[in-house]
Amino acid sequence: MAPVSPKKPKGKKPAVPKQVRGWRRLLGGGGPSFFGNLITTVLIFLLLMSVYSLAASFMQPANDVPLSVVAADVAAGKIETITVNGDSLDLTYADKSVKTSRKDPSAGLPETLATYGVTPAELAKVSITIQGQSGFQFWFLTLAPIIIPILFFVFLFWFLSRQVKGAGMQAFTFGQSKARVIDPADISQRVTFKDVAGAREAKEELLEIVDFLKSPKKFLDIGARIPKGIILMGAPGTGKTLLARAVAGEASVPFFSISGSEFVEMFVGVGASRVRDLFQLAKKAAPAIIFVDEIDAVGRVRGTGVGGGNDEREQTLNQILVEMDGFEPTEKVVVMAATNRPDVLDPALLRPGRFDRRVTIDLPDRRDREEILKVHAVKKPLGPDVNLAVVAERTPGFSGAELNSLMNEGAILAARESRKEVTQYDLIRSIEKVMLGPERKSHLLSKKEKEVTSYHEAGHALVSSVLPNADPVHKISIISRGRAAGYTLKLPFEDRKMQSKKQFLDDIAATLGGYVAEEMLFDDVTTGPSNDLAVITAIAREMVTRYGMSEKLGPIAFGDRQLGNEPYSEEVASHIDAEVSRIIDEAKARAEKVIGEHRGALDAIAKELIEKETIERTEFEKILIANGITPKKRDEEGIDIIPSTPGGVA
Ligand code: ADP
Ligand code: ZN
Ligand code: MG
Repeated sequence: MAPVSPKKPKGKKPAVPKQVRGWRRLLGGGGPSFFGNLITTVLIFLLLMSVYSLAASFMQPANDVPLSVVAADVAAGKIETITVNGDSLDLTYADKSVKTSRKDPSAGLPETLATYGVTPAELAKVSITIQGQSGFQFWFLTLAPIIIPILFFVFLFWFLSRQVKGAGMQAFTFGQSKARVIDPADISQRVTFKDVAGAREAKEELLEIVDFLKSPKKFLDIGARIPKGIILMGAPGTGKTLLARAVAGEASVPFFSISGSEFVEMFVGVGASRVRDLFQLAKKAAPAIIFVDEIDAVGRVRGTGVGGGNDEREQTLNQILVEMDGFEPTEKVVVMAATNRPDVLDPALLRPGRFDRRVTIDLPDRRDREEILKVHAVKKPLGPDVNLAVVAERTPGFSGAELNSLMNEGAILAARESRKEVTQYDLIRSIEKVMLGPERKSHLLSKKEKEVTSYHEAGHALVSSVLPNADPVHKISIISRGRAAGYTLKLPFEDRKMQSKKQFLDDIAATLGGYVAEEMLFDDVTTGPSNDLAVITAIAREMVTRYGMSEKLGPIAFGDRQLGNEPYSEEVASHIDAEVSRIIDEAKARAEKVIGEHRGALDAIAKELIEKETIERTEFEKILIANGITPKKRDEEGIDIIPSTPGGVA
């Protein structure tokens, strides 16, 4: 039930370091544990035993007759033939029925029958065939009870010793770098700047690095010092990893990559030795690139106790710094790193001589989005009606990764309907799927829920349309998607690189519109707006603590208390809380005023929603006009849509 502008949260990863997980890891080196294997082995053994005994019971002939009966039947002349096989007897009766029996293995058949009182004359009437037990059968049956347990124990010992050896081997290789290497000769894996659409500034900056890696001599001869460390900063999915690979691809040098999060789950000391090995490998392969992805996982501000004061993390970070400091000026290795949390990085990482070059990758603007869509449209046959410019216009705030999955979803839709081409409609439908998750048609609302949801969304849409600085509404729906029960899609005015205080305030009021509508109409509030409330609280707090938008506290940026930078007093903290509440209270009053003054419009929108479930922009604007509200004009051509809220709020 959130008003959704196509903008994303700035990907604040919790990045809580995973601790080494107890003794299992110690014994098994991450694999299944020793005891686990022992139990498995014993279970397998028991299973084999029961299968064997079951099979043996099946082999027991079903119509076994006692020897005394056999003797009586022979005497009575009922039996025609007896086939002796070891100590088992197959009997064929005169009436052609077949039965089996067993005799004492130590005595022959005639003797046995004689003891039961069969006379030789009676026995002569029966044809007796002795079928010798085959040598194999004999030996198998005699030796199996001895050999099988021996084999079992041999197997058990082999199995366990292999495990122990495996663990030992693993401990041995622990220190060695587990970096993935992309060989420049491997054309199939090669990525170049052509594969990275948009990001012009970033590519330009990195071109210098490519030049250096291609012909380091030129730079070194003239005494130029090339940056050792480049840090790529940008929201998740903006193509940081892709860009780093493209640098290696352009320069045709090996690309060693490792992720910061991998270091965190290791033994103490392992991370540091891995870093050492990685740098050694790269120096041997120089010119080369070392890429540390998600460096914030190891490079957080040290000594604050955030993330459990993980020693391993600090040692790994220290080792990275030591290695970078130890580079000779002639070293032809460039270290690249990526993060989406530059704000939490340890300042030591950013000092000159370390990651002193910073390249920021922004979310793509409209033109870049179109370029990215084109890159991912390669190999996807597009229908004649496809207009990627329109798709780009409708996807403000989408990252490269999201545009990639949008194209892919479109192709999936076409394939599912057995079409050979992707149409514009496929792509448009995919936008919302990528943004909000798949439609949940099965999520049926009761009549009451439908009414509440409709009024809630109508509240967002109405307040958004009336307040001058809120974004115009693009679509309203009460069809559940992902976690949202309904949604109001707002497309921000484009060309907006900054957000003003007035825009923030109207945004908060529009986001409260759902809550206010529910409260005014039903005199009750549901759990629906909980996300809305979390969002506005975050915006209001940022306004006060980051953007200096509170008159009371003035133009001061307060640090993040949890990170321990620039802490402030309890008194200031309570002022901040008071300001946040005031901003929200005032926004709520404005939302109430709008809804109070335009009850007719609210009812009309809600009624239409209950009936049609989804209202597109043109229909929506008709309702507004009918109720005396002038829809906001927006220029369709030549404008960039960008996420309207720094910090990103949905
Ligand atoms: P990040 O490392 O910033 O989280 P990635 O580099 O892993 O993002 O990007 C994920 C995917 O998104 C890429 O593999 C690529 O398919 C797509 N992508 C992202 N940015 C771009 C771009 N500028 N041009 C083309 N594709 C992109
Ligand atoms: Zn809502
Ligand atoms: Mg990445």
